Amino acid sequence: MFKCNICSKEINERERCNPEPLLPFEKSVCHDCDTYVTASRMHLVNFNTESFGIVASTVLEILQLSHALRNGRAELFKKMEEE
Ligand SMILES: [Zn+2]
Repeated sequence: MFKCNICSKEINERERCNPEPLLPFEKSVCHDCDTYVTASRMHLVNFNTESFGIVASTVLEILQLSHALRNGRAELFKKMEEE
């Protein structure tokens, strides 16, 4: 099993997508997060090499933080339902 490096979902080998340019090739993203990667790839084409890395890491951090917040909220709701 692998873990999506954006949303933290558990994925198997078949569900792994190429995370470049947001992450190095050996990292994994799920099918859902692959749309972010594709959109970033299309958008990052407009940046020069100096800005590219900064913009790519900023986009990645925003995506990871958004999913961490979403996962945290989902866990909280689940806990509230159980009580
Ligand atoms: Zn994902």
